[in-house]
Amino acid sequence: MLLSNENHTKLQTNYLFAQVASKVKAFKEANPNKNVISLGIGDVTQPLAPSCIEAMQKAVTDMSKAETFKGYPEYEGYDFLLEKIAKYDYQDRGVNIDTKEIFVSDGAKSDTANIQELFSNDAKVAVLDPVYPVYVDSNVMAGRAGEFKNGRWSNIVYLECKEENGFIPALPNEKVDIIYLCYPNNPTGTVLTKDELQKFVDYALKNESLILFDAAYEAFIREDNIPHSIYEIKDADKVAIEFKSFSKTAGFTGVRCAYTVIPNELAIFDKTTNNLVNLNRLWYRRQATKFNGVSYITQRGAEAIYSENGRKEINNTINYYLENAKILKNTLEDSGLTVYGGVNSPYLWVKTIDNMTSWEFFDYLLNNFYIVGTPGSGFGKAGEGFFRFTSFASREKTIEASNRLKLLKK
Ligand code: PLP
Repeated sequence: MLLSNENHTKLQTNYLFAQVASKVKAFKEANPNKNVISLGIGDVTQPLAPSCIEAMQKAVTDMSKAETFKGYPEYEGYDFLLEKIAKYDYQDRGVNIDTKEIFVSDGAKSDTANIQELFSNDAKVAVLDPVYPVYVDSNVMAGRAGEFKNGRWSNIVYLECKEENGFIPALPNEKVDIIYLCYPNNPTGTVLTKDELQKFVDYALKNESLILFDAAYEAFIREDNIPHSIYEIKDADKVAIEFKSFSKTAGFTGVRCAYTVIPNELAIFDKTTNNLVNLNRLWYRRQATKFNGVSYITQRGAEAIYSENGRKEINNTINYYLENAKILKNTLEDSGLTVYGGVNSPYLWVKTIDNMTSWEFFDYLLNNFYIVGTPGSGFGKAGEGFFRFTSFASREKTIEASNRLKLLKK
């Protein structure tokens, strides 16, 4: 009989969002007249920028004529998009990344999940806690995580981000091969300064580790001295891969487009040949086998983000979400709650009241204010006692939620 891949079957069921959904469903059935507002989702709500729509409509027209029709795209992305990314996201910021180091893809989720295929099965992995679950689950699926005991995987090193350390993770106190970092962070909404990130780069240089840097929320950074790319940090191109996405930057969650940067310099050791292997070429080979590129229409839409109007338009939308974050943050702080994030990030990380657990606070908010958020403990042990709100709802819903939350008193 066919046997299952046990690495997949030992994956823990992700109870978090399923449990949130089932609690909300039960509440709505019992209280059909209550207007429940969700500040839990990590999905955007505002429409695409007009420049993107226009560019995609034009691209559809290109597809209607034999002379301009496009079939399979290049695996790495079309030059017209690669050139814009290299110029606006890197070179104009003084970072020397060229088009050959960029791979356009259908999402940072798939790239951050797939990248681990390039590494040996006994590579030691470190993640932040709380954490975006994809980094952990993809390593579980690969058989790299060990056993699940007391809420943690035995072979994974957890770097806790807690109030006590200002949400700045300590460096691993053992030698690890891979470190997943996500900044601005999901779920805590916190950031690292250049100096703080430099410490991780220095650790990686010293220990020959690789940093996998997820910058999916980079466009929300508003404060100075917060790096928009890990390559702003000295020597990071020797130790880091970077993931960026148009999902939150430009409302592309439903369109699907992202990119990954693998500097030419990056190499890892191959045991069989005793040679160094170039990571950029290894990823190209992997993508060429398992991925057939991002559609022409989508890439034209993404390119339009970099036009003068496009940049203004997406910036306005990000400001809209950040204003939502500010409204919520002010309300919660006025009520005496402790709130992190929400300044360079769409996420607010809120300390529960009266020592409630994350799930107790979830029930309390749902039952008394008809507001849904995400329990922090669902992102990892270190998230217990915290709660994540997102700022992606419409302004009307954010204001309504905020008016209700004014009655919340610590
Ligand atoms: N990385 C982080 C940290 C995220 O929070 C998300 C989405 O919520 C993603 C990646 C997924 O990005 P994409 O839509 O490009 O797959």
